[in-house]
Amino acid sequence: MLKIENLHARVEGKDILKGLTLAVNAGEVHAIMGPNGAGKSTLGNVLAGREGYEVTAGSVTFDGVDLLALEPEERAAAGVFLAFQYPVEIPGVNNTYFLRAALNAQRKARGEPELDSMQFLKLVREKLKVMRISDELLHRAVNEGFSGGEKKRNEIFQMAVLEPKLAILDETDSGLDIDALKQVAEGVNALRSPERSFLVVTHYQRLLDYIVPDFVHVLADGRIVESGDKSLALKLEAHGYAWVAEHGEPAG
Ligand code: ADP
Ligand code: MG
Ligand code: MG
Repeated sequence: MLKIENLHARVEGKDILKGLTLAVNAGEVHAIMGPNGAGKSTLGNVLAGREGYEVTAGSVTFDGVDLLALEPEERAAAGVFLAFQYPVEIPGVNNTYFLRAALNAQRKARGEPELDSMQFLKLVREKLKVMRISDELLHRAVNEGFSGGEKKRNEIFQMAVLEPKLAILDETDSGLDIDALKQVAEGVNALRSPERSFLVVTHYQRLLDYIVPDFVHVLADGRIVESGDKSLALKLEAHGYAWVAEHGEPAG
C-alpha cells in the first residue's frame, strides 16, 4: 500500500530525513519510535504534503500512485489522514460543520456525491456510537477549550468519519492520562481493518500495550535503523535508544 524508498527531506534548509525506507501493507499497524528530533513528525508531514517540507530525493508510492506528486487535498482524498492535521483551535467554527466540509471536499475529489446535513448527521451518530464519544463534542468549536484528551478523542473521531486508508497518528499518547489513552486506543482498534493501515508515532511503549503493532521501527537521525515486532518496543523501554545504536543492524 505504502512504499517509501530512500526518502530525503529538508525543512528550512536542514536535512532531516536521510534515506528513509519503509513498506506498509494494507491492514498493518506500524509503530514508529525514536529519540526526539529524529524526524518522526517530519515523516508524517512529508507524507501529508504539508507546506515547508521539501523532498530532495527518494520516492513514496501509495496504492501505486506517486504520492509526492499529489497536492495535500488530493492525498487526503486518496485516503491519507494525519492526526494533528488540524491541530489549531478554530474559534467560532462548529466542529460538525468543519468535519462535514472536510468529508465533502474528499468525496467531491473522488467524484462521489456530497452528503447533505441529514445524511451527515446519520453518519456522525453511527461513528459517535462506535467511538463511544459524547455528542457534546460536536457542538463546540473546533478544538476550542478542548483538553488534551478531548483533542485526541476528537482526532480519532475525525478519522472515524473520514475513513482513511492510511492513518498517521503522531504522538497520540502525549499528554493523556491512562483512561484517555485507553479510550483513544479503543477507538483506533475499532477502526483497524484489513483495508486500513496505521503509522503510529509514539515515544512510549505503554501505548503499544493497547494498540498492538504488527511491526515496530526505530527512526534515528532521519532513517529507520532497526525494525522488529512488538518485542522491540519492550527492548527499547528497557535499554533506551542508545542500545539500538550499539546493537542494532541498520535497515534499508
Ligand atoms: P521528532 O518528531 O522525531 O521529534 P521532528 O520531525 O519534529 O522530530 O524534527 C526533526 C528535526 O527537524 C528537529 O531538529 C526539528 O527542530 C526540525 N524541524 C522540524 N520541523 C521544523 C520546522 N517546521 N521548522 C524548522 N525546523 C523543523
Ligand atoms: Mg518530538
Ligand atoms: Mg514529533
